[in-house]
Amino acid sequence: MPRPIQATIHTAALRHNLDRMRRAAPGAKVWAVVKANAYGHGIERAFEGLRGADGFALLDLDEAQRVRALGWRGPILLLEGVFEARDLELCSRLGLWHTVHCDEQIDMLAMHKTHVPHRVFLKLNSGMNRLGFAPQRLRAAWTRLAALPQVDEISFVTHFSDADAAGGIEAQLAVFDEATRDLPGERSLSNSAASLRHGGDAAARGDWIRPGIAVYGSAPDAPEHDIAHWGLQPTMTLATRIIAVQQLQRGDTVGYGSSFTAPGPLRIGVAACGYADGYPRHCGTGTPVLVEGVRTRLIGRVSMDMIAVDLSAVAQAGFGSEVTLWGRSGNGAVLAIDEPAQAAGTLGYELMCALAQRVPVVVE
Ligand SMILES: *Cc1c(COP(=O)(O)O)cnc(C)c1O
Repeated sequence: MPRPIQATIHTAALRHNLDRMRRAAPGAKVWAVVKANAYGHGIERAFEGLRGADGFALLDLDEAQRVRALGWRGPILLLEGVFEARDLELCSRLGLWHTVHCDEQIDMLAMHKTHVPHRVFLKLNSGMNRLGFAPQRLRAAWTRLAALPQVDEISFVTHFSDADAAGGIEAQLAVFDEATRDLPGERSLSNSAASLRHGGDAAARGDWIRPGIAVYGSAPDAPEHDIAHWGLQPTMTLATRIIAVQQLQRGDTVGYGSSFTAPGPLRIGVAACGYADGYPRHCGTGTPVLVEGVRTRLIGRVSMDMIAVDLSAVAQAGFGSEVTLWGRSGNGAVLAIDEPAQAAGTLGYELMCALAQRVPVVVE
């Protein structure tokens, strides 16, 4: 028998969350962002749940090819555009729309031989200072693109740096409005956080929203809000089983570094999941886990292949009991991926993307 660890991708939850994002930004079209192999879920595994999107946004040509191979004929957007001139050949062949964020990408387009003009998303740097033309340079870039026979429709895109927090989107929204005023074309501004927190604002909504993390059942502004607040469901469950039970006495310690000392008699379970499965090593004593769907806690350090969990609240648990690290337990209890993420000082994004290759994945 293989180790009892397993990840499950929940198709119905992906569908639910996508629909939730659609309702957050009424009237806008929705890019399902499937970069990083659909945030660790697997593009092929997530596709069924996400095929109701209006388009797929991603980074790698390889990922774009995989989406086309699944039979998707609708829009696909390269969020970082092309990296070298010959990438444009694949854009022509697969009908990919691509972001244009710098002069070098316009130079490549100007040299590109294509029968089909490309649809491009011209990117404005409205304050994130990662990708995009500075506001005062946007019009010149637009004029250059508009003059190219290789270019068909030109849309506008920008990305918010603080949509998940108090800083908000107001300042960047004003920069975007000013820089794109009077220029024709569709607009795309909002990621998950902006769509959920500011989707009521027509300017923030634009023509296309670009949700990623919320579609995958993680709250973009955790811990301020959790997935229950936003009406999102877990799309990935990481679960395993208890493979040993230990009865501790007062003063006994657990695991490497003896970082946990039992204050009294304590029954613990040893679960087959460790950092080599993608469970963060930075999760310490107290990190929530579910045993048989009952909320309890991690004890001691995370090892490569095992963790220990407190069984004092789950008297019926023993060898073979289900342990849910994140997601949904067999009895329907939910542990948002954001909780262990926060315990490890990181985000749900990182945990789902870091699910290890050795964990078998099933789709339900
Ligand atoms: C990753 C990404 C998104 C999705 O962001 P989430 O926070 O996951 O919703 C949207 N737009 C761009 C340009 C991105 O790179």
